[in-house]
Amino acid sequence: MTDNTLLEVKDLVKYFPVPGKQNSVVHAVDGVNFSIKKGETLGLVGESGCGKSTVAKSIVRMHKPTSGSIFFESRDIARIGARDLKPYRKKIQMIFQDPYSSLNPRMTVLKLVAEPLIAQKLVSTANQARDLVIEILNKVGLSAEHTSRYPHEFSGGQRQRISLARALIIDPELLVCDEPISALDVSIQAQVINLLQEFKSERSLTYLFIAHDLSMVRYVSDHVGVMYLGKMMELCNSEQIYKTALHPYTRGLHAAIPIADPDAARAKKISAIQGDIPSPISPPRGCRFHTRCSECMKICREEEPELKDVGGDHLVACHLYTMR
Ligand code: SF4
Repeated sequence: MTDNTLLEVKDLVKYFPVPGKQNSVVHAVDGVNFSIKKGETLGLVGESGCGKSTVAKSIVRMHKPTSGSIFFESRDIARIGARDLKPYRKKIQMIFQDPYSSLNPRMTVLKLVAEPLIAQKLVSTANQARDLVIEILNKVGLSAEHTSRYPHEFSGGQRQRISLARALIIDPELLVCDEPISALDVSIQAQVINLLQEFKSERSLTYLFIAHDLSMVRYVSDHVGVMYLGKMMELCNSEQIYKTALHPYTRGLHAAIPIADPDAARAKKISAIQGDIPSPISPPRGCRFHTRCSECMKICREEEPELKDVGGDHLVACHLYTMR
């Protein structure tokens, strides 16, 4: 762990029992490693069911990991109890894809945004809380007149601003963003991204930014990790992932990014990923991607490729590169 590493995830595993099936588990996350330096953004990308949200919820300890470590400021918080976890609840905050379901519909904006301040005992009077709520609302593009309203009175973009205000009011160091723009109109997505970028430079915030396609993390990430069926397939800096992606799955994700030119789009479809993601209850032996990979070799069905540095801090888990 280097000096300015804020978060380091080591061999993280999270299995869920399958209801009614003894000895069966969902391999949601199966030995994932990555780290994030202070002030940087790691984009975590993959299809639904790849385990990226489970990684996020494990970091904020909504899930208790099955095994592995989550070092935050050099302390392993993967299995610490509620009392020891309390200071980290202030330092690590999360925003969700659907702000409507994450905001209590019976609470006003004032109560919703002030709640973390009160839970962390960071204010002593109601007036102090109100002043801080109005200050953060102004920063996310809302105002004092919104404090008495309820979540259903806002648009999706405004609700995500409320979620952001609620997360940022206690001045966290790490913000885990679980598909924060996926449910928003394209025009609103850019506004939320811009807000996140402003807070990043103003407060030296560190982000884990989760998305299901590469286009969404393009403008926010310093590094990008690509997950498939509970495993990290490729991990490198943003430029490498967009200019020299190596893993066949990452290249398939690139092909899935919609483009305006019909001729280029037709050519791209040739390399798009075919088939469905296999069941995480019984993931394929060998490389987990081999059932959908157009470059699959004999070894891919038998041996699981390790995530290895193939040069320039570009990590890839694929026999095409690691056999060399
Ligand atoms: Fe494809 Fe084999 Fe690489 Fe897996 S290890 S991505 S199956 S080439």
